[in-house]
Amino acid sequence: MNMKILGNGGALNDGLPYNSFIINEKILIEMPPDVMLSLLRENIDIPAIEQIYISHLHGDHTFGFPFFALRLFKLGTEIRQKKKLKLYIPRHGKDYLIDLTEKAMSVGSPCVDWVVKNIDFKEISLSQAPEIELMDYTAELFKMDHPLETYGFVLKKNSKILFTYTSDTKWSHNIEFILKEKSKIILIDLNGEPGDPSPVHVSEQELIQNGIKLVHPKAVFYGTHLRRFKKSGHPMIRYAEPGMEIEI
Ligand SMILES: [Zn+2]
Ligand SMILES: [Zn+2]
Repeated sequence: MNMKILGNGGALNDGLPYNSFIINEKILIEMPPDVMLSLLRENIDIPAIEQIYISHLHGDHTFGFPFFALRLFKLGTEIRQKKKLKLYIPRHGKDYLIDLTEKAMSVGSPCVDWVVKNIDFKEISLSQAPEIELMDYTAELFKMDHPLETYGFVLKKNSKILFTYTSDTKWSHNIEFILKEKSKIILIDLNGEPGDPSPVHVSEQELIQNGIKLVHPKAVFYGTHLRRFKKSGHPMIRYAEPGMEIEI
């Protein structure tokens, strides 16, 4: 399995491409405002993308959707694919993305019709289904601690853990649950800084104090959703960079 980092920036950052990544060039995770720039920069075959996962409805994870849809609509992708593009998103996400596309393109735009006909929206909720299928993989969902309903996941194949993605979260019991799954590769929101007055994200300091002891001894954390690019002196922590590939 190949994971490619498309962007490593958080909602407010110093010019980093926004947080997103892609699995095997087929499963796109998050739809940030600049997702088209990141996909084109990395030479991803956009109509070949088969599934999309959006962790929550904040704009830094969703605002790229109308322009992604516009490109597929202009390419006439329904003819090429002959099957719908599956998109996982938390509750109310379908109406939210259709409304967003109307705002971006205008009400009545044929692109909006294309979205309705060609996207298979799957709304996720822990109470309905704790696991979803991402192509050949199973993603076990974990609710994160964030102002909006947000899901991280542990990706597995035949019960073998491949990696963990936390999405946006502050440090809390929820992140402890996902880390206790003992993944060896953990893509984690490290947007936090030690002096934050009311933390919304995890800081490297919190991770070292509270997280290292919970995970597999050979685990590697990849920090993402950053304010600015950083380097870590800790042997178990690296920072994600655009174009970085992680082979699993
Ligand atoms: Zn968020
Ligand atoms: Zn975010």
